[in-house]
Parts: sequence; C-alpha cells; structure tokens
Amino acid sequence: MSLITRQDLVSLVPAADSFVGVDSDGCVFDTMRVKQCLHFHPLIIRHWGLEAVEAQLREVAEFVNLHSRHRGRNRFPALLQTFELLPTRPGVAASGVTLPETRDLRAYCESGLALGNASLAAEVARTGSPELAKVLEWSLAVNREIERNMEPVPPFPAAVASLRKMQGRSDAMVVSQTPEEALLREWRQHGIDSLVRVIAGQELGSKAEHIRLATEGRYAKDRILLIGDAPGDLAAAREAGVAFYPIQPGAEGASWERFHDEIYERFLAGRYRGELERGLLEAFERSLASEMDER
Ligand SMILES: [Mg+2]
Repeated sequence: MSLITRQDLVSLVPAADSFVGVDSDGCVFDTMRVKQCLHFHPLIIRHWGLEAVEAQLREVAEFVNLHSRHRGRNRFPALLQTFELLPTRPGVAASGVTLPETRDLRAYCESGLALGNASLAAEVARTGSPELAKVLEWSLAVNREIERNMEPVPPFPAAVASLRKMQGRSDAMVVSQTPEEALLREWRQHGIDSLVRVIAGQELGSKAEHIRLATEGRYAKDRILLIGDAPGDLAAAREAGVAFYPIQPGAEGASWERFHDEIYERFLAGRYRGELERGLLEAFERSLASEMDER
C-alpha cells in the first residue's frame, strides 16, 4: 500500500454494503498512555525543571491528555492547560518551584494558526519569545524521543479480531489524525494493514471529511459506523451523520471484546443505533471528566 490520496477515498468501490471507520491511536493501538507518560511528560518535567512537583505534573498532564474531555487534543493547548492546572494541585505552592510562564503560549494557542512545529517556529522567529522557544525545543525533543525510543505497541487483540470479523462483511478504513507515514508504518509493522481498505491520516483532512469522501453516495447512512476513543471522534461521527461506538479509555480491551462479541452483529442487523448507542455514548461522556476533581 503506497501513500493514500483523497482521490483514493473518493474512488473507493464498495466491496460490502456496510462501512466501519476505526481511529488508530488510543483505539486500535494502546499508544496514548505510552506516548504521554513515557515520552511527553518526562520531557515537560525536564525542560521546565519541575522535578520537585513531578507527581503533581504527571497527575494534571494525565488528566488533560488521557482522562478529560480534552483527551486527544493538540499538544500545545494540552501543554497550556497542564501548566494552568498545575498551581491548583496540593503541595505545588509549598514546593517553591518556579512555575512555567504561559502568556506567549496562550497567545499562540489562541492565534488561529494551524498549531504545529512549523507555525510555532515561525512565531518564535517573529516574536523572539524565549517562552515559545522553550515550547518549540520541547516539542521537537518529543518527536525525536518518540522516533528513537518508543517501543512498538501492539494492537489490542480484540481490535484485530474485530477487524478480521469484518472481512468480507464490511469495508473497514483507518480514520486518523496521525501523519500518514506513521500510520502506514504502525499498521504494517503489526501485519494488520491488509485488514482495512484504506488508511487515512491527517494529510487527507478531518475525520468527518475522511468518512464523507470514502462513503458518500455508496453506503446507506445507517450502514456506516465510526469507532474511536476521544470526544473528537464522536464529534466527527455526528458531523458525518453516522453511528459511533466508543472505545472506553482505560477499558479498551473490554470495549473491543464487547464490540467483537455483540455490537458488530447488532450494527449489521440494524439494531445498534437508538437506545443502545445512546446509553454507551452517555457512559462514554460521563467517563471523561470536565473538572479534575470530578474523576
Ligand atoms: Mg484516538
């Protein structure tokens, strides 16, 4: 499979009468916790000298990136939110640690720019802000660290079993905001790329666009399902007007097992949307806290 283009999505010819989109990071692969806890967070601690409040920093960073409604959001607003929550935690003020400055990071996050290393580097050059320079240094270090040191994380076994179950019955596609190249590497590395018709990454547009391009005029709306682990996935399903099955953060294996054993058949039989879906979505939304102490 070579790199996918938008045309590949548009010209996808159905081989089945139903379509299932699956998110990759944190959904098929248990990569969220590893990426955040072993790579992102230690580098925050080191870059901003927060060793004295390591426990509190990890607590807020895990809340923002894994357990809150903001799970799966862009790294820069997530960093800003982490820094803003840090002083509210017990023991931080008493530690005497110098807390990170956030004024320029906030301005960058609210600038309307596409948030990424390229636009951040341009802002560092334009403003000369040492605060932003430090954020950029951290962000580049995170990329290097993950590329060099992150061990491959295997997919959830029940996710693979579910994809196998779909063979010949539904057209499956990866619907992701991870760069295409990384997606192809991960799916090939674990030998599961052949279980999906297409692998769509961030270069091909938003998740809702992926679904629209790949399905429009080819499948009935009630024959399309998106599976994901973050509120952004649910929003994409809503935008595309298709059904959603949540992979519950922290209970991913059990969520996939239920999908494999029960939900997929119900979806095929037209008995998933409605009460069953609503109940699962309510539980999913409840499990992602809006306030730290709600957990
Ligand atoms: Mg995800």
